[in-house]
Amino acid sequence: MSYDNIFYYWNLEIITVLINEVIQMAIDPICKMEVDEATAKFTFEFKGNTYYFCAPGCKAEFEANPEKYV
Ligand SMILES: [Zn+2]
Repeated sequence: MSYDNIFYYWNLEIITVLINEVIQMAIDPICKMEVDEATAKFTFEFKGNTYYFCAPGCKAEFEANPEKYV
């Protein structure tokens, strides 16, 4: 890997971190996918925390057994 490539990948990492801070991304506790909190359709409140899901299947899985995932 050349010096240019290292610099390129380093920049990508910084940009990804910045984007994640601006757009509040939550991690789906079931499949570990990133979910945009602003547009998330599937959310579930548990013990005062809000959890975000990518799909109804993930939400149903969490609802069935929340203790396993928190
Ligand atoms: Zn999911």
